[in-house]
Amino acid sequence: MKVGIVGAGMVGSSAGYALAILGIASDIVFVDRNEALAVAQAEDISHAVPFVSATTVLAGGYADLAGAGVVIIAAGVSQKPGEGRLELLERNAAVFRDVVTQVLKAAPKAILLIASNPVDIMTQIATRLSGLPAQRVIGSGTILDTARFRSLVGRHLGIAPQSVHAYVLGEHGDSEVLAWSNARAGSVALRSFADQVGKPLTEATRGAIDDGVRNAAYKIINGKGSTYYGIGAGLARIVKAIAHDERDVLSVSIVTPRVGDVTDVALSVPRIVGAGGVAADLFPQLDEAEFAALNHSASLLKERVETVKL
Ligand code: ADP
Repeated sequence: MKVGIVGAGMVGSSAGYALAILGIASDIVFVDRNEALAVAQAEDISHAVPFVSATTVLAGGYADLAGAGVVIIAAGVSQKPGEGRLELLERNAAVFRDVVTQVLKAAPKAILLIASNPVDIMTQIATRLSGLPAQRVIGSGTILDTARFRSLVGRHLGIAPQSVHAYVLGEHGDSEVLAWSNARAGSVALRSFADQVGKPLTEATRGAIDDGVRNAAYKIINGKGSTYYGIGAGLARIVKAIAHDERDVLSVSIVTPRVGDVTDVALSVPRIVGAGGVAADLFPQLDEAEFAALNHSASLLKERVETVKL
């Protein structure tokens, strides 16, 4: 599958690198308003290809996206230290007005994969701007938060993150919800698993994991300016599910008809992802506090997205 990447900055190039290294895409085309950057990223990544795969990596204009099955939109302005994700909104909405129109003209059949932050709101904006069905405009959402959650729980229990089945729901950001009550390791309820291996999930442990997931991005931004390898791999994971019609259950963001008492809001719940984009939404059973927190997250996002005029 041909994959377009609009925005050849840190996130876009990391996604391209992951796609090339993993051999997921047959062709990758970078587009950026900074043409020299797009060319440089394509060249650099193409030099990694002979070691591992047969992906063609090029830079081009929007017309070169023709025939792409997925176009990742990672264009925009990056989060500054101390800046909340939502503060990026106005600056990135303006970029999307330009980018989404041009992408659709060149690749009307592509699934749009949104990576720019604040990702849930940018996903909803891209859905509105494109007029595409919600299932074809997918935000990376909490895919990375879910990976961080599994990784920290796995580390605590001394097991591989792949054996932890747990999701982060809602906003990719401060109001996200770690769904502890339905989390499992293998097929065992998490609390029981933790007790059985002598690593109980105390309040303090859960608090530390919650903090580690919720504040991971802020910590990385303080240390190196921005985050990109994790999300790059997460984007490649979503493209793989689409390109190979894997029908994986992934926590990604699309405009969702109803979440609690909020209607038409983009946020993450587990969803089946395959060739056509999102095939189904899954609403996990939550305890009362988690349900209230998800409802709160949904209403915050809805409030925010309604302030954007298109
Ligand atoms: P991030 O860390 O989110 O990847 P970067 O600033 O590294 O942020 O990358 C964002 C990229 O988006 C930059 O390379 C920038 O040139 C590009 N970009 C910004 N606006 C547009 C636009 N309107 N069209 C295409 N690319 C854009």
